[in-house]
Amino acid sequence: MAFLVDIHLNRGPRQHLSSAAFFERSSDMFCVECGSEGPVYEGLCAKCFLKRHPVVVPVALLDLPRCTSCGSFRLRSGWSKVDRDLAIPQLLREAMPPLAPYERVGFTHVAREEDANNLAVTVKAVGRFQGLAAVQDFHLRIRIKPSLCESCQKQRGRYFEGTLQVRGDHRELAPREIRDVRTFVVARVDRSEDSEAFISRVEEVDGGLDFYVSQNALAKRLAREVADSFGGSVSSSPKLFGQREGREVFRVTALVRLGAFHKGDVVRHKGAIAEVTSVRPFVVLRDLATGESRRFKPKDVRGARRIEADRFEARFERLESGDVVAVHPESAEERPLHAASKKDATGGVVVWTADGAYLSSLPANVSKD
Ligand SMILES: [Zn+2]
Ligand SMILES: [Zn+2]
Repeated sequence: MAFLVDIHLNRGPRQHLSSAAFFERSSDMFCVECGSEGPVYEGLCAKCFLKRHPVVVPVALLDLPRCTSCGSFRLRSGWSKVDRDLAIPQLLREAMPPLAPYERVGFTHVAREEDANNLAVTVKAVGRFQGLAAVQDFHLRIRIKPSLCESCQKQRGRYFEGTLQVRGDHRELAPREIRDVRTFVVARVDRSEDSEAFISRVEEVDGGLDFYVSQNALAKRLAREVADSFGGSVSSSPKLFGQREGREVFRVTALVRLGAFHKGDVVRHKGAIAEVTSVRPFVVLRDLATGESRRFKPKDVRGARRIEADRFEARFERLESGDVVAVHPESAEERPLHAASKKDATGGVVVWTADGAYLSSLPANVSKD
């Protein structure tokens, strides 16, 4: 790598030298390399000295881990809570020791932020040898690596403020629901821009899940998001936890009760087969045989039972008897199409149950919102 070279000479004003001193020094004031007159170091003028002896081997790129939680920087000596402008010279010293014969090197720098995590840095390395201060200029890039220091890691392992509890409404959550809710909550927190938002731990309890999280507000926000996505009701209760710096500290437990059903579920309710077309604020059941929809409060459909059913796009065929059947797109199996209306259609989305097919009012891939 090419580098710029400055020469700083430690030369006192000549007129202040006594004639004796002048005479003494004049014997070694010619550079053996270029013959120029002036102070010499190991027989070389400052310029030739630096040409032969670079101060450091410049590096092009340095990584500087920074704790996203407390702002500490990781240097070779460990995590250090210093300003960036103090961390950088130390990083440079650790990466670029002085080359012989320099005894010491000092760094000054100017950092320009290209973006939040990339610094374009102009560096001056000042090497000291006897009376000479040789200055070597070069550029490098410093990449700030978002990281988590050891003490913040430990703190996070213990610390929580709010609790998010996810339970079933008068039921235990199914293993699939537990898996889905856990994945959903962890992804929400991971994607959060807020570095203070984190989950300390997750526990599976009583057919539900407990998330211990860093902020009360986070517990409440996650509760709303879980309820919105999975269908459920939210309640929260603050509990006095103690005092911190003279203020009362509350821990909030936000509780989500997930309804028994998801949008798209097929249920048997009071003898009829229905599909769930909405779960909030009311549960809406659409009778598959008649096509009629009715709204219920969640507690009024607790008696409904989910039944096994698939939903997909199928072709319809009219038999010689006049009956219409739906044809399974993969197995080509035929089942009677129960819905009275739309029998003239040649195909559509059906709910496929053990005893027949029904026209559905939902798309084949129902999203759970
Ligand atoms: Zn020279
Ligand atoms: Zn930290």
